[in-house]
Amino acid sequence: MSDSHVARVDLLSAVKKSVGMLFQTGKRHGERLLPQINVGIDLDSTIARIDEPWLARLNKACQTNYRSNQWTDWDLSFLTEDERRVFFEVFTPDLYEAVKPYPGAIEAIRDLAQKPGVKLVCVTTNPSKNADAFAYAKKCWLQKYFPDLAHSVLFSKKKNGLGLDVLVDDAPHHFQDVDFIPVLVERPWNKSVDCTLRFREWNTGKILLLSLADQFTRTAKQIQNMVPLLS
Ligand SMILES: [Mg+2]
Repeated sequence: MSDSHVARVDLLSAVKKSVGMLFQTGKRHGERLLPQINVGIDLDSTIARIDEPWLARLNKACQTNYRSNQWTDWDLSFLTEDERRVFFEVFTPDLYEAVKPYPGAIEAIRDLAQKPGVKLVCVTTNPSKNADAFAYAKKCWLQKYFPDLAHSVLFSKKKNGLGLDVLVDDAPHHFQDVDFIPVLVERPWNKSVDCTLRFREWNTGKILLLSLADQFTRTAKQIQNMVPLLS
């Protein structure tokens, strides 16, 4: 699979979509509504550092000594075929008991959640085997570290078509066919993804996302002011 994709949804397109929906909703309710930016936050390897405990399990099972900096492609080509099989076998829901958040992620999500006009939703994919148990484990993990996201979770293999204005993610395939503003979380396995908005550390990610939300709200209000909204 090629992971060189170009993110093509820009701020203005996303704002127009959002304001268009507001316009319709406002007409129905006879009121002027505030624009809201829907921000999807991926879980695995975006806010949840799963690589270290997952590799630790593999190393224990296979008597190997892999480090996270060796995981440099999405297809796990640094592992042998047998190791790849074991790798997926040891990925069970109880792994999340050992998973920690990336540094700065807790503060970033908390500050974003408190910002007026920002609606956060955690959008994550579960393995098809034990999907319900993974869903439960992830919700418990979110409750522990990200209570702002724990009650707003979508489990989905696809991340387009969900009404997101922004998606923050690390997986290369979610940067194809985007209908949201994509924000890439830089990890060693997504170096070839072509995406304008990107960050590696959550302290800079927080600044980027707060600024994006400001731009979104400002642009949405400008568009609202340009059209006679309600009769
Ligand atoms: Mg991910």
